[in-house]
Amino acid sequence: MTERNAIEARNVVKAFGQGDSAVRALDDVSVEIREGEFFTLLGPSGCGKTTLLRLIAGFEMPTDGVILLDGQDITYLPPNKRPVNTVFQSYALFPHLTVAQNISFGLEMLGKPAAEVKSRTAEMLALVKLDTMADRKTSQLSGGQQQRVALARALAPQPKVLLLDEPLSALDLKLRQAMQIELKRLQMETGITFVFVTHDQEEALTMSDRIGVMSQGKLQQVGTAKEIYTRPKNRFVASFIGETNFLEARAEGGKVRLASGDVVEFETPVTGDMTLTIRPEQLRLVPAGEAGAIPAVISNLVYFGTDTHVHLELADRTEIMARVQSPATGDAGFERGNRIGVRFAPGALQALGE
Ligand code: ATP
Repeated sequence: MTERNAIEARNVVKAFGQGDSAVRALDDVSVEIREGEFFTLLGPSGCGKTTLLRLIAGFEMPTDGVILLDGQDITYLPPNKRPVNTVFQSYALFPHLTVAQNISFGLEMLGKPAAEVKSRTAEMLALVKLDTMADRKTSQLSGGQQQRVALARALAPQPKVLLLDEPLSALDLKLRQAMQIELKRLQMETGITFVFVTHDQEEALTMSDRIGVMSQGKLQQVGTAKEIYTRPKNRFVASFIGETNFLEARAEGGKVRLASGDVVEFETPVTGDMTLTIRPEQLRLVPAGEAGAIPAVISNLVYFGTDTHVHLELADRTEIMARVQSPATGDAGFERGNRIGVRFAPGALQALGE
């Protein structure tokens, strides 16, 4: 990855329709995607991520704002003039052509010499590990294999940027996980900038160098998986990525007091009401009555194999959840209705913006 920007969107607005029925699919989005980066746009259905991808591809024009590629304004450049390729959820392969023909088709359309088409197609077949299936019709391939052909076909012309619109969503879980690793490998080996769209947080966390979290046409936060998970900027990001607990609190006279009345160790320059958040794995469960621990009652236990989720109720009935590792043998000694103490790992509590 370099410090240069492959793609830059500046104050991009995209509205569909007019008047009262207008939808602002993108509402002043600015983002910089670096050269050689695996960048993921993550968000729930309808948040605008596909629209942003389509603007980068040139399939749509923005209502306002500009899109730059390598520093050049490409806002109104037609799709076929952009060094950008897209892989769609539906692979859109030619069923009557072979794997090799599907890959070489785009190169031939670009007028590449026959020798180059041949060598490049062979290179792509090896890259996606389909060299032994070059002469098969794509209709005779599994979903995962078809997805590899679609990737090879899109990578063959060596685009500067590859756009991927939920390309793994048609695959079953195991295959999807295998393809996630494969995609990351392809991106690293080719050095091409990938812009990947998904609503699946696990997919985003496992593959991306950086993630842009979107909601309601706005980019809520951009950062590495770790930054977004450990330092979510607002309530939406905190709850969309992983599981978390929210605690209403009030800062006054140098102390932060939860709605339950318990004082917690949390330094803040502000006073007044605030929402704190803490991930379930940052809670420590200790015997009831231990000094400094917050009293709670176990309201439910849910076993998840490696982990057990311990649901707790604080004095004011606020519900929170602790994730503890399940013991190898026996049970963890927790029972519904038990009184227990809760401690927060140092530095794990965070205040959220709106
Ligand atoms: P999904 O994951 O469901 O594809 P998304 O985050 O990709 O969702 P977009 O497809 O970008 O969302 O859509 C954003 C908003 O813009 C939605 O409210 C959608 O209904 C609206 N929208 C998208 N395309 C059009 C269009 N051609 N005409 C009118 N509204 C549109």
